[in-house]
Amino acid sequence: MRTPLVAGNWKMNKTLEQSEALLTELAAKRPDTSAEIIVAPPFLNLPAAVRQLQNSVIGVAAQNMHQAESGAYTGEVSADMLLSVGVRTVILGHSERRSYFGESDELLKEKVDQALAKDLQVIFCFGEELGQRKSGSHFEVVERQLREALFHLDASQWKSLVLAYEPVWAIGTGETASPAQAQEMHAFIRQLLAKEVGAGVADAVRILYGGSVKPANAEEIFSQPDVDGGLIGGASLKADDFVAIIAAA
Ligand code: PGA
Repeated sequence: MRTPLVAGNWKMNKTLEQSEALLTELAAKRPDTSAEIIVAPPFLNLPAAVRQLQNSVIGVAAQNMHQAESGAYTGEVSADMLLSVGVRTVILGHSERRSYFGESDELLKEKVDQALAKDLQVIFCFGEELGQRKSGSHFEVVERQLREALFHLDASQWKSLVLAYEPVWAIGTGETASPAQAQEMHAFIRQLLAKEVGAGVADAVRILYGGSVKPANAEEIFSQPDVDGGLIGGASLKADDFVAIIAAA
C-alpha cells in the first residue's frame, strides 16, 4: 500500500560533469522496480539533472531551501526558484543543516510551511544524537522534533510529506541502526502519528530510514514492516551501490 522510496542525498559532492556522468550511469543501470527513486544533487546541478532525467522515472530533489518568498537573503534559494527549474521535492531538516547551520525545529516549521504552500513534496529528516540514544531519550527527542515542525499540519498536507528517520550517530559513520532499532523507532512514530494526527495519516505516510545504508544491509532494513525505503548519503554517490540499494527496496 505504501510505495517504497529510495532517495540519494549527494550532499556537497559532484561537479556538473560528475553529476551528468553519474545520472547517465544510473539511468542505464536502474533496476526494474516499483519503488520511487529520487536523487538530490547540489543546487547548481539541479536544472541539468532535471533536463537529463526528463524522460526517466527518477525524480530530482533539492537538499534545502529558504523559508522566505524572496528578498535580501544572500546566498539562499527559494521554493519558486526550485519550481522554476522543475524541482518538485525538497529535503528539509537534515542533521547537517541542523548542526552546522543551526536550523532549529522552529525554523524548520517555517520551511515546511513554505514548501507545502508551494506544493513541493517534503522529505523531512530528524533523529537523535548518540548521547541522546545512550541516555534513553531518543523517543522523546524524535517526538519533539516531529511535534514542533509538523503536528500543526492537516491531513491533506501530510500527503506531501515523507519522513526520514536518521539517527545522527549512524550518518556517515559506517554504523547503522540495527533493523530492530529502526523498526522500533518507525513503529513508535506511526503510533505517535495515529494518536496526534490520525490513523489515516499514520498508515499512509512513508517513513524512510537513513544512516549508513549500504548494499549489504539495505534489504534487511527495508524488509522491516514500518520502514518504507531509505535516504542514502555516501552509497548514493556510486551508481552500482545505489542501484543495488534500489533493488533491495
Ligand atoms: P550516509 O548519509 O548514508 O552517508 O550515512 C545518510 C544521510 O545523511 O542522509
